[in-house]
Amino acid sequence: MKNIVLFGAPGAGKGTHAGLIAEKFDMVHISTGDLLRAEVAAQTPLGRRVDAIMQRGDLVGDDVVVQLVDHAITSSPQGLILDGFPRTVEQAQVLDFLLSHHGRRLDHVISIDMPRAELIRRLRERAAISGRADDNEATFAHRLEEYELKTRPVLDYYRVSGLLISIDGSGEISETSTRICQIVKELV
Ligand code: ADP
Repeated sequence: MKNIVLFGAPGAGKGTHAGLIAEKFDMVHISTGDLLRAEVAAQTPLGRRVDAIMQRGDLVGDDVVVQLVDHAITSSPQGLILDGFPRTVEQAQVLDFLLSHHGRRLDHVISIDMPRAELIRRLRERAAISGRADDNEATFAHRLEEYELKTRPVLDYYRVSGLLISIDGSGEISETSTRICQIVKELV
Protein backbone atom coordinates (compact mmCIF):
# COMPACT_ATOMS: atom_id res chain seq x y z
CA MET A 1 0.00 0.00 0.00
CA LYS A 2 1.89 3.03 -1.29
CA ASN A 3 1.27 6.68 -0.60
CA ILE A 4 2.29 9.26 -3.16
CA VAL A 5 2.07 13.03 -3.40
CA LEU A 6 1.61 14.47 -6.87
CA PHE A 7 3.06 17.95 -6.71
CA GLY A 8 2.94 20.89 -9.11
CA ALA A 9 1.92 24.50 -9.62
CA PRO A 10 -1.66 25.45 -10.58
CA GLY A 11 -2.13 24.37 -14.19
CA ALA A 12 0.51 21.62 -14.09
CA GLY A 13 -2.12 18.90 -14.45
CA LYS A 14 -2.01 17.33 -10.98
CA GLY A 15 -5.72 16.51 -10.98
CA THR A 16 -5.72 14.87 -14.42
CA HIS A 17 -2.70 12.68 -13.71
CA ALA A 18 -3.73 11.82 -10.15
CA GLY A 19 -7.13 10.65 -11.44
CA LEU A 20 -5.52 8.43 -14.07
CA ILE A 21 -3.10 6.89 -11.58
CA ALA A 22 -5.81 6.25 -9.01
CA GLU A 23 -7.86 4.38 -11.60
CA LYS A 24 -4.96 2.41 -13.02
CA PHE A 25 -3.42 1.33 -9.71
CA ASP A 26 -6.59 1.16 -7.62
CA MET A 27 -5.49 3.96 -5.33
CA VAL A 28 -7.60 6.63 -3.64
CA HIS A 29 -7.30 10.09 -5.19
CA ILE A 30 -7.39 12.75 -2.49
CA SER A 31 -7.67 16.23 -4.01
CA THR A 32 -7.98 18.99 -1.43
CA GLY A 33 -9.25 21.33 -4.17
CA ASP A 34 -12.09 18.89 -5.01
CA LEU A 35 -12.87 18.32 -1.32
CA LEU A 36 -13.05 22.08 -0.73
CA ARG A 37 -15.17 22.67 -3.85
CA ALA A 38 -17.60 19.97 -2.65
CA GLU A 39 -17.95 21.83 0.67
CA VAL A 40 -18.59 25.09 -1.18
CA ALA A 41 -21.17 23.47 -3.48
CA ALA A 42 -22.98 21.90 -0.50
CA GLN A 43 -22.88 25.27 1.30
CA THR A 44 -21.64 23.68 4.52
CA PRO A 45 -20.34 26.04 7.25
CA LEU A 46 -16.80 25.11 6.16
CA GLY A 47 -17.68 25.75 2.51
CA ARG A 48 -19.09 29.17 3.32
CA ARG A 49 -15.88 29.99 5.20
CA VAL A 50 -13.58 29.13 2.29
CA ASP A 51 -15.61 30.24 -0.73
CA ALA A 52 -14.31 33.81 -0.97
CA ILE A 53 -10.74 32.75 -0.09
CA MET A 54 -10.69 30.26 -2.98
CA GLN A 55 -12.25 32.75 -5.40
CA ARG A 56 -9.42 35.17 -4.64
CA GLY A 57 -6.86 32.43 -5.25
CA ASP A 58 -5.53 32.55 -1.68
CA LEU A 59 -4.66 29.39 0.17
CA VAL A 60 -7.23 28.38 2.76
CA GLY A 61 -6.05 27.83 6.34
CA ASP A 62 -3.99 24.76 7.20
CA ASP A 63 -6.50 23.77 9.93
CA VAL A 64 -9.31 23.45 7.37
CA VAL A 65 -7.44 21.32 4.82
CA VAL A 66 -5.78 19.19 7.48
CA GLN A 67 -9.21 18.32 8.86
CA LEU A 68 -10.40 17.23 5.39
CA VAL A 69 -7.26 15.22 4.65
CA ASP A 70 -7.32 13.53 8.04
CA HIS A 71 -10.87 12.38 7.39
CA ALA A 72 -10.02 11.19 3.86
CA ILE A 73 -6.99 9.20 5.04
CA THR A 74 -8.95 7.61 7.87
CA SER A 75 -11.61 6.39 5.46
CA SER A 76 -9.19 5.09 2.78
CA PRO A 77 -7.53 1.74 3.44
CA GLN A 78 -5.99 1.65 -0.08
CA GLY A 79 -2.87 3.42 -1.27
CA LEU A 80 -3.22 7.20 -1.56
CA ILE A 81 -2.47 9.64 -4.32
CA LEU A 82 -2.53 13.14 -2.87
CA ASP A 83 -3.15 16.07 -5.20
CA GLY A 84 -2.99 19.69 -3.99
CA PHE A 85 -1.78 18.70 -0.54
CA PRO A 86 0.63 19.51 1.04
CA ARG A 87 0.83 23.13 -0.12
CA THR A 88 2.85 24.54 2.76
CA VAL A 89 5.80 23.16 4.72
CA GLU A 90 3.54 23.05 7.79
CA GLN A 91 1.08 20.87 5.88
CA ALA A 92 3.95 18.59 4.82
CA GLN A 93 4.92 18.15 8.47
CA VAL A 94 1.33 17.42 9.45
CA LEU A 95 1.05 14.87 6.64
CA ASP A 96 4.04 12.96 8.05
CA PHE A 97 2.33 12.97 11.42
CA LEU A 98 -1.09 11.91 10.07
CA LEU A 99 0.36 9.06 8.01
CA SER A 100 2.47 7.73 10.88
CA HIS A 101 -0.57 7.95 13.14
CA HIS A 102 -2.23 5.50 10.71
CA GLY A 103 0.89 3.29 10.54
CA ARG A 104 1.71 4.58 7.05
CA ARG A 105 4.41 6.64 5.46
CA LEU A 106 4.96 8.68 2.33
CA ASP A 107 6.75 6.73 -0.41
CA HIS A 108 7.33 9.31 -3.12
CA VAL A 109 6.66 12.87 -4.14
CA ILE A 110 6.38 13.28 -7.90
CA SER A 111 6.76 16.88 -8.97
CA ILE A 112 5.41 17.90 -12.38
CA ASP A 113 7.67 20.77 -13.49
CA MET A 114 6.53 23.32 -16.05
CA PRO A 115 7.64 26.82 -17.12
CA ARG A 116 5.40 29.67 -15.95
CA ALA A 117 4.34 30.67 -19.48
CA GLU A 118 3.12 27.13 -20.12
CA LEU A 119 1.25 27.03 -16.78
CA ILE A 120 -0.60 30.21 -17.73
CA ARG A 121 -1.37 28.87 -21.19
CA ARG A 122 -2.85 25.70 -19.69
CA LEU A 123 -4.78 27.61 -17.02
CA ARG A 124 -6.37 29.73 -19.78
CA GLU A 125 -7.23 26.62 -21.74
CA ARG A 126 -8.76 25.00 -18.65
CA ALA A 127 -10.69 28.15 -17.73
CA ALA A 128 -12.64 27.88 -20.97
CA ILE A 129 -14.13 24.55 -19.89
CA SER A 130 -13.71 24.08 -16.12
CA GLY A 131 -16.44 26.39 -14.85
CA ARG A 132 -14.33 26.88 -11.71
CA ALA A 133 -14.87 30.22 -9.97
CA ASP A 134 -11.09 30.64 -9.52
CA ASP A 135 -10.18 29.82 -13.11
CA ASN A 136 -10.08 33.36 -14.44
CA GLU A 137 -7.48 35.81 -15.63
CA ALA A 138 -7.69 37.87 -12.41
CA THR A 139 -6.52 35.03 -10.17
CA PHE A 140 -3.90 33.28 -12.32
CA ALA A 141 -1.00 35.53 -11.35
CA HIS A 142 -2.03 35.53 -7.70
CA ARG A 143 -2.35 31.73 -7.53
CA LEU A 144 1.11 31.38 -9.06
CA GLU A 145 2.46 33.91 -6.53
CA GLU A 146 0.95 31.91 -3.67
CA TYR A 147 2.61 28.84 -5.16
CA GLU A 148 6.05 30.48 -5.38
CA LEU A 149 5.86 31.93 -1.90
CA LYS A 150 4.24 29.18 0.15
CA THR A 151 4.22 25.97 -1.86
CA ARG A 152 7.54 25.80 -3.69
CA PRO A 153 9.45 25.52 -0.36
CA VAL A 154 7.71 22.16 0.12
CA LEU A 155 9.96 20.82 -2.68
CA ASP A 156 13.06 21.45 -0.55
CA TYR A 157 11.43 19.70 2.38
CA TYR A 158 11.02 16.55 0.26
CA ARG A 159 14.35 16.93 -1.52
CA VAL A 160 16.09 16.79 1.83
CA SER A 161 14.16 13.68 2.86
CA GLY A 162 15.09 11.98 -0.46
CA LEU A 163 11.48 11.42 -1.56
CA LEU A 164 11.40 13.85 -4.48
CA ILE A 165 11.26 12.81 -8.13
CA SER A 166 10.91 15.68 -10.62
CA ILE A 167 9.60 15.19 -14.12
CA ASP A 168 9.24 17.57 -17.03
CA GLY A 169 5.52 18.12 -17.59
CA SER A 170 5.73 20.50 -20.52
CA GLY A 171 5.21 17.86 -23.24
CA GLU A 172 2.00 16.13 -24.29
CA ILE A 173 -0.29 15.03 -21.45
CA SER A 174 0.01 11.41 -22.63
CA GLU A 175 3.85 11.57 -22.44
CA THR A 176 3.76 12.94 -18.89
CA SER A 177 1.18 10.38 -17.92
CA THR A 178 3.32 7.52 -19.24
CA ARG A 179 6.32 8.74 -17.24
CA ILE A 180 4.32 9.09 -14.03
CA CYS A 181 2.78 5.64 -14.53
CA GLN A 182 6.25 4.13 -14.98
CA ILE A 183 7.40 5.64 -11.69
CA VAL A 184 4.30 4.44 -9.85
CA LYS A 185 4.52 0.99 -11.43
CA GLU A 186 8.07 0.53 -10.20
CA LEU A 187 6.89 1.50 -6.76
CA VAL A 188 3.76 -0.57 -6.29
P1 ADP B 1 -4.93 24.39 -8.66
O1 ADP B 1 -3.74 23.67 -8.15
O2 ADP B 1 -5.14 24.19 -10.11
O3 ADP B 1 -4.97 25.85 -8.29
P2 ADP B 1 -6.69 23.06 -6.67
O4 ADP B 1 -8.01 22.44 -6.98
O5 ADP B 1 -5.62 22.16 -6.16
O6 ADP B 1 -6.27 23.79 -8.01
O7 ADP B 1 -6.90 24.23 -5.59
C1 ADP B 1 -7.86 25.24 -5.75
C2 ADP B 1 -7.88 26.16 -4.53
O8 ADP B 1 -8.26 25.41 -3.37
C3 ADP B 1 -6.54 26.78 -4.15
O9 ADP B 1 -6.28 27.96 -4.88
C4 ADP B 1 -6.76 27.07 -2.66
O10 ADP B 1 -7.58 28.19 -2.46
C5 ADP B 1 -7.54 25.85 -2.22
N1 ADP B 1 -6.67 24.74 -1.78
C6 ADP B 1 -6.56 23.51 -2.33
N2 ADP B 1 -5.70 22.74 -1.66
C7 ADP B 1 -5.22 23.51 -0.65
C8 ADP B 1 -4.28 23.30 0.40
N3 ADP B 1 -3.63 22.13 0.51
N4 ADP B 1 -4.03 24.31 1.25
C9 ADP B 1 -4.67 25.48 1.14
N5 ADP B 1 -5.56 25.77 0.18
C10 ADP B 1 -5.85 24.79 -0.71
